[in-house]
Amino acid sequence: MNVLVINAGSSSLKYQLLNPDTQEILAKGLCERIGIDGKFTYKPTGKTAVKAADVAMPTHSEAIQTVLNALVDKENGVIASMKEIDAVGHRVVHGGEKFAKSVRITDEVMATIEECNPLAPLHNPANIIGIRACQQLMPGTPMVAVFDTAFHQTMPPVAYTYALPYEYYEQDKVRRYGFHGTSHKYVSQRAAAMLGKPIEELKLISCHLGNGSSITAIDGGKSVDTSMGFTPLAGLPMGTRAGDLDAGILQYLMNKHGMNIDEMLNVLNKKSGVEGISAISSDFRDLENAEAEGNQRAELALRVFDYSVKKYIGAYAAAMGGVDAVIFTAGVGENGPETRESACAGLEFLGIKIDPEKDKVRGKEMDVSADDAKVRVLVIPTNEELMIAMDTAAIVKG
Ligand code: AMP
Repeated sequence: MNVLVINAGSSSLKYQLLNPDTQEILAKGLCERIGIDGKFTYKPTGKTAVKAADVAMPTHSEAIQTVLNALVDKENGVIASMKEIDAVGHRVVHGGEKFAKSVRITDEVMATIEECNPLAPLHNPANIIGIRACQQLMPGTPMVAVFDTAFHQTMPPVAYTYALPYEYYEQDKVRRYGFHGTSHKYVSQRAAAMLGKPIEELKLISCHLGNGSSITAIDGGKSVDTSMGFTPLAGLPMGTRAGDLDAGILQYLMNKHGMNIDEMLNVLNKKSGVEGISAISSDFRDLENAEAEGNQRAELALRVFDYSVKKYIGAYAAAMGGVDAVIFTAGVGENGPETRESACAGLEFLGIKIDPEKDKVRGKEMDVSADDAKVRVLVIPTNEELMIAMDTAAIVKG
C-alpha cells in the first residue's frame, strides 16, 4: 500500500510517498513559496533529484499537481499512475477536544476541523487548504487527518486544567492541548519495541528537542502530561520561543517599551529562547561552537535549556510515580550528546545514568544508558511521516 503524506503550511507543502508496511520511501520533497512564485524540490529514491526548481504555484492546487506530475513522470517518477496512491494522510495541527485519534476525512470531519481553526489560526486553515486541493485532484482516493494534538487527549483534567476562572475552559476551550503528538506516539512505540515490552507496562518520558521542543509523560502508552500548552509557545525554552514565563512580565515590558500585544508575542515567539539569551543563533550547533570558543551567553543559553529539560524529567517521573525509559528525539535530541548528558546529569538518584561512550551516537536508535542504570535512556530518531502513513493505512484498511 502506498500512502502520500501531506504537511501543508500557508506557503509551503512537504510531501512523502511511502509504503507503511515495508517502510520504504518512494519519493519525498517540498513545495515552497506557494502563492508567491513557487519552488519545487523532489527526491525520488534511486533516481535523479530535482533541486529547488522554479515552478509556478499560485495556489496549493498547482503545488499538489506538480507533486503528482513528478510522481508519475516517465523518467523520474516512482509510480506508473495515480492509481498507485492508495490513500493520502494529512497532518493537521489542531483537533481541539473533538479528535482523540486520526480520522477518515468526510464533509462532517472537515466542518469539525474548521471549528478548531481559532485554536490554531496560523496552521489549521493551511492544513484545510491542502486537504481541499488533494480532494479536488484525487476525488476517489481515501484521505485521513492525523492531528498533532490527538495523542494528548488522554491527559487527565489535573494535567490539562489551567488555574483560571473555569468558564474560560467551558466557554472558550482554554486548556492544555499539547503538540508534537505524532512524534511522541511514534517514539514511544519504538521504545517499547526496543525494550521488548508491551507499551501498556511502561512509563516513558519522551523529550522531543528540536527547533520547537516538548516533553511528554507517557504512562501505559497514553500521554498523561505534556509541556506545551494551549499553544506551542509553552513549556521548554526553544530555538526562538520563550517557553513558560511569568505572565506579569508581559504587562511590565509592554508598558516599559510601549509594545502592543502582537509585538510582545512576536518577541516571545520569534526573538526569545536560546537565540534571545545568546543573541547568537537558534541553532544548537552554532551555540555549541560559540560555547567551545568561550562565549558565556551561548553557554548560559544551553544550560538554561538543559536545566529545563532536567526539571521536566524530574516532574514527569514524579507525576507517573516512576520512569522506565527517557527518550531523546528530534534534531537536538537525536544529535546532541552534550544536551542529553547535561540534562541527565545529577539524575542518578532516579536511576538515570548515561554511558558517555555509547552516547557518542547521532541520529540512530540506541540505548545509551550505563549497563547498571535502572532507567534506560534511548536515542530514537522520530519519523512523523511514517506514523501518519501507518495511521492512514490502519484506518483505510479498517
Ligand atoms: P528539528 O526542529 O527537529 O529539525 O531540529 C532542528 C535543530 O536541531 C537545529 O536547529 C539544530 O539546533 C539541532 N541540530 C541538528 N543537528 C545537530 C547536531 N549535529 N548537533 C546539535 N544540534 C543539532
